[in-house]
Amino acid sequence: MRSFAYSRPSTPQAALTEFGAAASGAAYLAGGTTLLDLMKLDVLQPERILDLNGLRADFGRIRQDGTLLRLGAFAKMAEVADHPEVAATFPVISQSLALAASPQIRNMASLGGNVLQRTRCAYFRDLSWSACNKRVSGSGCAAIEGANRMHAVLGTSSACIATYPGDFAQALMVLDASVTVAGPRGTRTLPFAELHRRPGDRPDLETTLAPGEIILEFVVPTTAWSRRSMYLKIRDRQSYEFAVASAAVALDLDGDTVREARIALGGLASVPWRASEAEELLQGQPLTEDVARSAAQAALAEATPQSHNEFKIELGQSTLVRALLQTAAMEVTE
Ligand code: FAD
Ligand code: SF4
Repeated sequence: MRSFAYSRPSTPQAALTEFGAAASGAAYLAGGTTLLDLMKLDVLQPERILDLNGLRADFGRIRQDGTLLRLGAFAKMAEVADHPEVAATFPVISQSLALAASPQIRNMASLGGNVLQRTRCAYFRDLSWSACNKRVSGSGCAAIEGANRMHAVLGTSSACIATYPGDFAQALMVLDASVTVAGPRGTRTLPFAELHRRPGDRPDLETTLAPGEIILEFVVPTTAWSRRSMYLKIRDRQSYEFAVASAAVALDLDGDTVREARIALGGLASVPWRASEAEELLQGQPLTEDVARSAAQAALAEATPQSHNEFKIELGQSTLVRALLQTAAMEVTE
């Protein structure tokens, strides 16, 4: 790993000032489980590391604020996964975090770092492949003609077919969460669904954050569908593995009939993927297996497979059908 300068600012303002002074050579550090990994591989080469763990006292808490759940960006994945009130009121959050990575990583990694983790595309992580538009804009995409079994079938472009690898983001999508960020011009809040960008012709631009902006907090409203929510993750082995396909589902039911549905897919798309067509199809319908199958077909209708991952279309549909039926069958207490 290359040498770098290190500092630990204690306020967002101090971090922003240091980031601005260092210009493009700076990177923020939270748990380091993505950042240091990519620095060791030489994919990232920051000259200055700004360790944000000095912000943990103010922005690492888990708080119920009236009907809002406030999750500090520096809360550890394990702390949130194990929090009893989060598990009872927002099960999809606990499950998405508990099913991610390993206990060691969940103890280190933060929520903010989790949503900003980078793709696991092998060509992105291995410098011996020169063609990767995400690493070097305009260099090409080795995965399109390469081994692309784990790549995306939704939201891809001719410049990049990488999959968004995280789990927690899908939970935030179905709960209509928002994210608060601090930047040089002050603090702003945006819907979480607007944080990630599809690759288009600039796969290197992965989020709508301006350079240097810091995620401070996720805000999750309590809704009629928060408690009846779950995360189903299908992977090649039962632990310590990324999703091949996953579904976060939240339902508001009137008996067997769907009043409101929220669906986000993981492991299948370039970004955390809200399946709006499937949600609309479910509204007002009894949640039978046939209706769930029609919704799953609608969710994957736009899928464009690569040479090695056509199986993801059927797998994604089956995952969603299972998740919908399991969510409908949940015993929910008020
Ligand atoms: P860091 O590595 O510190 O930071 C990640 C990125 O975010 C960096 O670019 C950093 O500059 C930036 N950043 C961090 N915090 C902020 C902030 N508050 N504001 C602005 N920028 C910030 N994840 C899953 O979801 N599911 C899995 O199954 C899974 N399996 C894994 C298996 C392995 C072997 C490994 C190594 C990782 C796995 N992960 C998985 C990814 C892991 O969860 C992430 O690496 C972790 O969540 C990142 O959090 P961090 O705090 O360590 O981030
Ligand atoms: Fe790079 Fe994206 Fe192509 Fe992977 S899929 S090689 S990340 S451009």
